[in-house]
Amino acid sequence: MRIEIDNFDNFDNFDNYRKSCREFLQREIVPEHQKWEENGLVERSFWEKLGQSGLLGISVSPEFGGLGKNDYRFAVILTEELIKASVTVPGIVAHNDIVASYIFALGNKEQKKRWLPELCSGKRVAAIAMTEPSGGSNTADIKTVAKRQGDYYLVNGGKTYITNGINADLIVIAVKTKEGQQGQGISLLAIERGMPGFTRGEPLKKIGWNGSDTAELFFDDCKVPITNLIGRENLGNYYFMSAMPRERLSISAVAVASAEHILQNTLEYVKERTAFNQTIGSFQYNRFILAQLDTEVKIARIYLDNSVDLFNQGLFSLVDAARIKWWTTELQMKVADRCLQLHGGLGYMRDSIAGKNWLNSRAQTIYGGTSEVLQEIISKSIGL
Ligand SMILES: Cc1cc2nc3c(=O)[nH]c(=O)nc-3n(C[C@H](O)[C@H](O)[C@H](O)COP(=O)(O)OP(=O)(O)OC[C@H]3O[C@@H](n4cnc5c(N)ncnc54)[C@H](O)[C@@H]3O)c2cc1C
Repeated sequence: MRIEIDNFDNFDNFDNYRKSCREFLQREIVPEHQKWEENGLVERSFWEKLGQSGLLGISVSPEFGGLGKNDYRFAVILTEELIKASVTVPGIVAHNDIVASYIFALGNKEQKKRWLPELCSGKRVAAIAMTEPSGGSNTADIKTVAKRQGDYYLVNGGKTYITNGINADLIVIAVKTKEGQQGQGISLLAIERGMPGFTRGEPLKKIGWNGSDTAELFFDDCKVPITNLIGRENLGNYYFMSAMPRERLSISAVAVASAEHILQNTLEYVKERTAFNQTIGSFQYNRFILAQLDTEVKIARIYLDNSVDLFNQGLFSLVDAARIKWWTTELQMKVADRCLQLHGGLGYMRDSIAGKNWLNSRAQTIYGGTSEVLQEIISKSIGL
């Protein structure tokens, strides 16, 4: 059953797709979102509504319940509309852009049939779990172990800061399946709700992105059938690196959309708000700040469009992804900070658009590779 959405069959047209996303979010999600932010938990109905609307699994082929749109611009449009509607984004990116893509790219036919239709319909929620309590920057240093015993793996260890960690029914985790140097012997396993030995903590209390759940996951002799191995054993690090450009591009899209949104919002505010008998935006100091931000955000938009184009052509590398993720998320943070200042006390209110944008922006330079780790990748690529 598809939820009523205008022009659902006409998603080839970007304008129609955008309009459909916008109308759907305003009608079905915006009225509920405040409650999720207060609870720090997305309601399960959200996922089913998203699925019924056709907004999940955009790039997954119709054979497995998706829309079969390989053009990444569709994903960018969804992100932009989520940002404009002030709806929490990371959970959707993790589900749609990361896990569904992993399974679609790496899963065997049986796994795709088993999981993808329910991920696309929103009946199952997905998460990706790499980060461990001992550290997340060094993704090659995985301590969670999976020992093969007959037709299952016995998994021991834990993960933390996992987006959708409370709601997730299917979690792709990185485990160590073979002793060896860092980065070697890593495999990807799918953990499913209810598996013996798998538990989760309480929702973690974040400072931003409050309308998404984040949790710790624990594996204590968790029995995972070998049929839940994704891709080949011990190639996890290679798969992880292959998927990174997409993940980092998705975070860059959030960064550019957020910077544009808060800047637009701030321009409206400073043209109305007055001090010393003139509008805030008419002071030379503020005009120059806004002129600089306007220019940088426009550069970011061109940079993003160019990167999406490269991605669509299969030419977007790990280093390209490191560059754009580093630069756009740092810019987002700067824009959010300056714009908060221009809102004065209102900007410091948690529920103001400027306040929320500032808090949300802070995570963007941390997950998906911190700015420091990304600059390591960039500097290596130029021979340093
Ligand atoms: C809101 C949110 C959602 C998240 N969702 C997920 C998720 O769904 N799945 C998942 O697996 N993880 C998730 N994470 C975890 C995230 O990926 C990690 O927090 C991140 O990779 C950093 O790891 P860490 O927190 O262990 O920091 P650490 O690795 O302890 O790093 C601490 C500091 O040291 C710096 N540092 C590390 N190495 C270097 C270096 N070589 N040079 C200079 N500085 C360095 C880092 O940049 C950072 O500033 C999420 C995090 C947040 C905040």
